[in-house]
Amino acid sequence: MRILSGIQPSGQLHIGNYFGMMRSMIANMDSSELYAFIVDLHALTSVQDRERLSRGTLEAATDFLALGLDPERCTFWVQSDVPEVTELAWVLSTLTPMGLLERCHSYKDKVAKGIVPSHGLFAYPVLMAADILLFQAERVPVGKDQKQHLEVARDIAIKFNNTFGETFVVPEPVIDDSLATIPGLDGQKMSKSYGNTIPIFASEKELKKKVMAIVTDATPVEAVKDPDNCNLYSLFKLFAPKDRLTEVHGLYVNGGAMYGKIKLELLDLLWEYFREPREKRAQLLADPGQVREILQRGAVKAREKAVVTLDLVRDRVGLKY
Ligand code: ATP
Ligand code: MG
Repeated sequence: MRILSGIQPSGQLHIGNYFGMMRSMIANMDSSELYAFIVDLHALTSVQDRERLSRGTLEAATDFLALGLDPERCTFWVQSDVPEVTELAWVLSTLTPMGLLERCHSYKDKVAKGIVPSHGLFAYPVLMAADILLFQAERVPVGKDQKQHLEVARDIAIKFNNTFGETFVVPEPVIDDSLATIPGLDGQKMSKSYGNTIPIFASEKELKKKVMAIVTDATPVEAVKDPDNCNLYSLFKLFAPKDRLTEVHGLYVNGGAMYGKIKLELLDLLWEYFREPREKRAQLLADPGQVREILQRGAVKAREKAVVTLDLVRDRVGLKY
C-alpha cells in the first residue's frame, strides 16, 4: 500500500496534527510504502515571512523525526525541493471546475479567520491534489478537516483519467473517526493558523499556560456535565489511562468534576506522553545539518518517482511534441 500525507510548516506542530495524521503515518512505516513531506508551498498561503517559513520548515521536519518518523523506512522531504509538483498542479488546474473549489469549507473558514483570500489559498486543493497524484498514493491519512480536499483530489484524478486515459491512482482518505477533529483551546478545530493550539513541544511553562486556558463552561463543581460536549474532556481522553478516564467520566455524569484539577492532571499526562520525543528533538536541534541532509536525500528519492508521473502526464496531455 502506498500511503502519503503532508504537514504545513505554518506554526508549531500541535496535538491535533499528531493524532489526526502524524501518529498513523509513523505507525504505517513498516507495513507500507510511506511518503511524508513538509508542505512549505502550501504554508506560503498563510505565512509570508521569510524567517518564519524557513525556520518553520526545518522545525516541522525535526519534530516529525523526533516523534518517530524514520527516514530510512519512508520517503521524507520538503515539498518545494520537488518542483515537479507545481507543474502538475498547473495541468490539473486547467481541468478543475471553479465550482469544485468554490464549495471548499477550508478556504471559507480561513478567510473568515482573517487570512488573505489569495488565489493560492483558493487553489490550495489543486496543489494538494498534485501532491497526492504525483506519487500515485493509494491512501492518505488526514484529519476530518481534509476530507473535502481529498474528495477534490479524487474528482480531479477521475476527470483526468476520463479525459486523457488511465493515468492516476484515485486516492482514498484514511480518517480515524474517534480522532477526526481534535478541538483547540477555544473548542474550534485546533489549527496552527487559529492560534488555539497545544503545541507538542511547548516548554513546561508554556504548556501550563495553554492547558489552563482551555475554555470550559461555568457550571458549579457539583453540577452534572456532558463529557461529549466538553472540550477539556475531549483532550483529556487522548492521554488518560482507561481506568482514570472511566472515573472522570463518572464525575462528569454524576457531578463532582473539577475542571482545574483535570487540567493539572492533563498537563502532567501531556508532559509525560511526549517525554521521549522531546529528548530526541533536543538532540536533533543541536545538529540541524543532519536534518537538512536527511531532507536532501529524501528529495532525491521523491524526485525519482515524481519525474516518472510527470513525464507520463506531459505525454498524455500533449506537452510532448
Ligand atoms: P493550518 O492552520 O495552517 O491549516 P493545521 O493546524 O490545520 O494548520 P495542517 O498542516 O493544515 O495543520 O494539517 C496537517 C494534518 O493535520 C492534516 O492531515 C490535518 O487534517 C491534520 N489536522 C490538523 N488539525 C487537526 C485537528 N484539529 N484534528 C485532527 N487533525 C488535524
Ligand atoms: Mg490546516
